[in-house]
Amino acid sequence: MTTHLEPTTGIHGTLHGKVALVTGGSRGIGAATAVRLAREGADVAVTYVHGKEAAEEVVGAVQALGRRAVALRADAGDADEAEAVVERTAQTLGGLDVLVNNAGIGVLGPLEGLALTDVDRVLAVNVRGVFLASRAAAARMGAGGRIITIGSCMAQRVPGPGGTLYATSKSALIGLTKALARELGARGITANIVHPGPIDTDMNPADGPFAPGQAQLTALGRFGTADEVASIVAYLAGAQYVTGAEFSVDGGHAA
Ligand code: NDP
Repeated sequence: MTTHLEPTTGIHGTLHGKVALVTGGSRGIGAATAVRLAREGADVAVTYVHGKEAAEEVVGAVQALGRRAVALRADAGDADEAEAVVERTAQTLGGLDVLVNNAGIGVLGPLEGLALTDVDRVLAVNVRGVFLASRAAAARMGAGGRIITIGSCMAQRVPGPGGTLYATSKSALIGLTKALARELGARGITANIVHPGPIDTDMNPADGPFAPGQAQLTALGRFGTADEVASIVAYLAGAQYVTGAEFSVDGGHAA
């Protein structure tokens, strides 16, 4: 796994004075995104469920960059917690400018093997939690607000069997993103979605049993890194005239 929490480069400053909330920010893409946003000057809240220590490590990396940070336990699959963490962030860090809907889970397997509890849990975390956090954030944000959602290459191309539930959940986020862009555009708030390809994280390690097949599905023939996704999220956090758009950071998985 190649997530880098070390503050190896200086502050760029495009997000100076902004407050960001990254759900699922204790590991993987979320952790890399939190640090990247801090490098751009943002104060950052990260959520976690199990990884308190890992989340505190991310907080330390953000603080080492001279930014404020807080780790908040909030299960995106719990409707109350998914919504309330937005207000907790705003109260702790003094507002909210950027929401990164990153927390997500994958349950893969044959259609007939998926239990109702799998369906409910995946949709609760990957879709309902994103909907509720986005709605709460929209109510809190002023002009310049940014909602950035992490989708998946599986929302664009399902390369084999076993992805029905995960692809369903991630595809729903495309519609949500476009509808949010339309609903919030008049207020100067943008909404965009980033589709990672195979990214080397705990969820999908590059040395895992399915790794070689996945790399071959990309045009570049390799896994991506969490930092490569984080850089696009940071770009969108600062972009002005981009909304309702999908960005593939997938090494050409969808090509
Ligand atoms: P990881 O499994 O490596 O990390 C997941 C992070 O989300 C952890 O910080 C974890 O926190 C947190 N998390 C998990 N469930 C919840 C929950 N219910 N509420 C709040 N936080 C939660 O995942 P990745 O970094 O790989 O994935 C991040 C996002 O990118 C996901 O939405 C995923 O679907 C998407 N994605 C990933 C790809 C990949 O190849 N890695 C490809 C395409 C999309 P903790 O364990 O500390 O509680």
